[in-house]
Amino acid sequence: MPVRSDPRRTRPRTRSTLVLRDASILDVETGEVSSPRTIVAHDGDIVEISTSTRTVPGAQELSVVGSTVLPGLIDAHAHVTQASGDFTEILSWSPSYHAARTAEVLHRMLLRGFTTVRDMGGADTGLRRAIEERLLTGPRLKAGGPIFAPTGGHALTRVVDGEAEVRRALRAELRDGADHIKLTLSGGVISKMRIDSLGFSEAEILAAVDEAALAHRYVGAHVYSAEAVSRALRLGVRTIEHGNFLDEECIALFLERDAYYVPTLATFWAIVEGHTGQHLDAAKRTAVVEVFERGLESLALADRSGVRIGYGTDLHGEGLAFQLEEFAIRGRVQDPLAVIRSATLTGAEIIGESGRLGVVREGAKADLIAVNGDPLSDLAVLSSGRALRLIVTDGEVLR
Ligand SMILES: [Zn+2]
Repeated sequence: MPVRSDPRRTRPRTRSTLVLRDASILDVETGEVSSPRTIVAHDGDIVEISTSTRTVPGAQELSVVGSTVLPGLIDAHAHVTQASGDFTEILSWSPSYHAARTAEVLHRMLLRGFTTVRDMGGADTGLRRAIEERLLTGPRLKAGGPIFAPTGGHALTRVVDGEAEVRRALRAELRDGADHIKLTLSGGVISKMRIDSLGFSEAEILAAVDEAALAHRYVGAHVYSAEAVSRALRLGVRTIEHGNFLDEECIALFLERDAYYVPTLATFWAIVEGHTGQHLDAAKRTAVVEVFERGLESLALADRSGVRIGYGTDLHGEGLAFQLEEFAIRGRVQDPLAVIRSATLTGAEIIGESGRLGVVREGAKADLIAVNGDPLSDLAVLSSGRALRLIVTDGEVLR
């Protein structure tokens, strides 16, 4: 399978210049908002940020006076191929129909201001290529292929058992260009495996971490209990997905191992609020309420302990509409700037794009959004989606 985009098919991004006037830029590192600046983007990169008022010949010009300019948002835990919340339904779709539904999901994510998405199970590198070649309109995509699970994992995962099978499957996926590897290391709220069960043996996990490291990539893991989180961190997993039941030992390991925490509270919130999960029985719903509340407590603990936290959502089907709600949910226990950093700076670190994505500065990619209002005083400016005024991806105005 061809891994990289064919340069002959990648539409040249050259000779496009965009000038944004009157941009009050939020520096997500310092939390300061600049006085009005002119941002010049050329060939998809920010080439100049200044107070210059000179005209740039042939450039598209726009004024964003009165709004706040931020880096394009990064969702570090999404499932772009899960257009339905009913996995049995997805499995009944033909590949072409599934691709069409996925294209719609991708487009909508970009329209919410997510200019980069890390898919944590389902998206293969073909989708990444289709976006790079502009066959699809969507966020920059980091794709890891299937979710790897031991026997007992739920639908839409690839089952691998034993060190040799793990290595064989990961080698194939990494050869095909996966950006990361996703393992299921514990049960889940709605999976058949109990939430407190541990998945994969130590030898299997070490084999996966080793294979990813050999390819200069990394492993992210689905885990819930403190025991599962600590075990994953000790064995070299780099990003902890969900992690709703953290304890002090987990926190110490996050800091010691330079690992990342990617909570996904929106997916539980959507069930608690009755937007999704209508098929769940009463016992499961009660369990989700606890998982959500403990998740908020874990986020607060991680935040005040200095753990590096990414923005994740883990939504499916109808729930996808709530991708921005994670801002409001996190705002209950974190400062607005901390939440914004998760969705920009830290997201870029997680995917290895520090300095290129997640910041508005010269030399970075021209991925940015403009919102009406001040997100530092009110995260609803981001979570409602209604204040979104402009989306620029790769130097081009989407809307
Ligand atoms: Zn997920």
